[in-house]
Amino acid sequence: MSTKQTGKIVIISSPSGGGKTSICRRLLDAHGDEGWQFSISYTTRPMREGEKNGREYFFVDDKTFTELVQSDFFAEHFKVHLYQYGTPRGPLEDVLEKGGVMLLDVDVQGADRLKKEYPRAITIFVLPPSHDALQQRLKARGTETEEQFRIRLSNAENEMKLWKNFEYVVINDILDKAVHEVQSIVIAHHCRTDKCDVEQIEKIIG
Ligand code: 5GP
Repeated sequence: MSTKQTGKIVIISSPSGGGKTSICRRLLDAHGDEGWQFSISYTTRPMREGEKNGREYFFVDDKTFTELVQSDFFAEHFKVHLYQYGTPRGPLEDVLEKGGVMLLDVDVQGADRLKKEYPRAITIFVLPPSHDALQQRLKARGTETEEQFRIRLSNAENEMKLWKNFEYVVINDILDKAVHEVQSIVIAHHCRTDKCDVEQIEKIIG
């Protein structure tokens, strides 16, 4: 576990269809120049149309994924829906040491594990504006079979019940507003009296 922390780890979780991918994209467009980046996970899920290896995910087979797990490559890894997903440890440690903001889009199990390993990480849960909107967003993707859709919907319903495990909750009704809220949380989080750099403050106070 890292004790010194220069950069920020921001864990953004939401059920599939909650809209966290759009939020992360917008944040990167706005803050990429300032060292905000996105943690690219590894997955055994097949690539969807429009995705690119190394951009949304690194797409690997089961054997490679298992080898990576065994070599302690991941900070966390879980089976989500039907496939394996894992967060590589190296880029997280780099940001903590060198500065910047690392955005992570992980499921609730991954968020829980990462928070244990990196207790100063910021945890944000993004909710869709309504149950109907969630269903519509999941359907609109059209990338899944009926069975996959049902699994995702039922997992989403269970995940949403865990919103209180997070430090912040953002309702994604209007994308601009949700992006603004996440951005504000990230920028101001270190001003909280329980999250600030106590050493620096004690120096000022004398
Ligand atoms: P999708 O297959 O739709 O891209 O993602 C499915 C789910 O996997 C989402 O809830 C996403 O947050 C989660 N996920 C993506 N990468 C990771 C990861 O590295 N670890 C964990 N635990 N979940 C992940």
